[in-house]
Parts: sequence; C-alpha cells; structure tokens
Amino acid sequence: MTVILDGKALSNKILDDIKHKVSNLKTKPGLAVILVGNDPASSVYVKNKEKQALNSGFNSYIHNLSQNTTKEELLDLIAKLNCDNNIDGILLQLPLPKHLNAYDFLDKVDPKKDVDGFHPTNSGNLMINEKPYAIACTPKGIIRLLDEYNIQISGQNAVIIGRSNIVGKPLSMLLLNRNATVTIAHSKTKNLSHITKSADILISATGKKNMVTKDMVKQGATIIDVGIMRDSDGKLRGDVDFDNVKKVADYITPVPGGVGPMTIASLMENTLELHLLNKG
Ligand code: NAD
Repeated sequence: MTVILDGKALSNKILDDIKHKVSNLKTKPGLAVILVGNDPASSVYVKNKEKQALNSGFNSYIHNLSQNTTKEELLDLIAKLNCDNNIDGILLQLPLPKHLNAYDFLDKVDPKKDVDGFHPTNSGNLMINEKPYAIACTPKGIIRLLDEYNIQISGQNAVIIGRSNIVGKPLSMLLLNRNATVTIAHSKTKNLSHITKSADILISATGKKNMVTKDMVKQGATIIDVGIMRDSDGKLRGDVDFDNVKKVADYITPVPGGVGPMTIASLMENTLELHLLNKG
C-alpha cells in the first residue's frame, strides 16, 4: 500500500522539540526576516515564518521595506543585522523587486547568520561535503522526511526536476553526499519521462501542474512534490498528478502537508542551530 509522507506531522514533532529546547535556554534565538515590496505570496510566507518563530519561542524581527528600496539601503540593513547580537538568523525573502539582484545581497549576510544556507560559503561547503553553518531549508526538510520513513538514499537513482539555487541544486548535493546517483532535469531536458522512469526517488520542483504523471513513474518509486501553485478552484496543488501517481508509487508527499511544513521546520531548526553556534 502506498505510504503518504506526512510532512505536517513530522514538522509538528520537530517544532515541539525546538520549543522544548528553547524553553531551557537562557537567551531566545532571534530571526530577522527582510521583506522588500508587497508581493502577496511573499507577505503570506513572511507572516507564516513569524508565526512559527514566535510559536517556537524565538524573537521575530520583520523588516518590511518599501518596493523602491535602493541597493544601498538594503545593504545597510543587512550590515546592521550582521552586527546585532539579538539576531541569529537573517532571511532575505525572495523574489526581490526587479531593480534589485538577489546575488548582490545573499553573499553580504554573515555566513554564521545565513539561516537559508544561500551564502556561497555555505552552499560551497555543501558542495565539498564539509558541514555548512546552515543548509537550504527545503532540501534539508526533504532529506529529513526521507530519513523519518527510512527510505534508502545510498545507491538509489534520484532524479530531480528543477535546477533552482534554492531547491534543485542544493538537494542534488545532499543526495550525492548520501551516495545517491543523481540526475537533474530541467526545462531543456530531452526525453524527460525516460529519465524519470529510472528514478527510485523522484523529486519535482517546477511549479507546473501535472509535471509528473503516472506514466513517468517507476512502480515502487518514492515521489517528492515540491511544487506549489494555486489551482483555478482556489486549492493548493503541487507538480504531481497525486491521485494517479499514488497508484504506482510506494511513498508520496501530499500538497499541502508534505514538503511545505518541512521547509518551515528546517528554518526554525537552522535558527536554533545558529543561535547555539553564535551564543552556545
Ligand atoms: P524556479 O521557479 O526557480 O524554477 C523552476 C525549475 O523548473 C527550473 O529549473 C526549470 O528548468 C524547471 N522546469 C520548468 N518547466 C519544466 C519542464 N517543462 N520540464 C522540466 N523542467 C522544468 O524553481 P523553485 O524556486 O525551485 O520553485 C519550484 C516550485 O517549488 C515552485 O512551485 C515553488 O513555489 C515551489 N517551492 C516550494 C517550496 C516548499 O517549501 N514546498 C520551497 C521552494 C519552492
């Protein structure tokens, strides 16, 4: 029978454990989130992060900057947060408005406060399999979910659809470091279904509806759906044709309730780990 990978239940377990650990600390971890502009989806994500941070017993600092914030103003804020002893984690909510380039800022965050793991020092350390200060939250949460269900990674064929810097690339490194044979597919990949059919573990991170259909999946595979989109009926959907793919998969994540909650749990875990690193 197909097992539904319950990211919501596991994230609740992780968050309870964090809350318990924080209640025994002398000082509270501090998470600063910078939101530039008023992208509606980003505003919802930031509110959710604040809610979870407060729920975990952290101090939460939201910096809501106007749409026309200049490069200098944003650099100035990051420099201040780098020096602020109350702050353990700094998160720059992406995407930024068009006139700002994320890569002008991500490497200005102190790597020891880089709660998203996007600083080149942290992503570079991930690449050479040396422990980064923090690992990108979504990939970290996916590995944690696979481990929770004792899904073998070593020696398995893992196929990732999507090559973004926040999901596909760091996830490929985590899987490779755990001895999977990794293929990254993307929008220019030929014969995608031929590649996906070889996957013991198939992860889709495109944001495209029905990207993964039943005929693309090997019997008994593990399916991880990272995609999030709002369908015409207003409901959240992922990349995977869940109802049909579930018939051939051994393990599958739902949307919502799969990877999303694991991303948030990893963010809280990273904040606590950086707090212990900086003040422990
Ligand atoms: P992105 O939007 O930056 O890029 C999409 C990727 O999909 C690209 O690498 C592109 O090459 C690939 N792609 C697009 N069409 C394709 C096709 N037809 N065939 C093969 N590959 C194709 O990626 P992202 O920022 O990683 O986000 C991907 C999705 O994951 C989005 O829906 C996003 O909302 C979601 N997401 C969810 C979480 C979570 O916590 N659940 C976290 C991050 C992103």
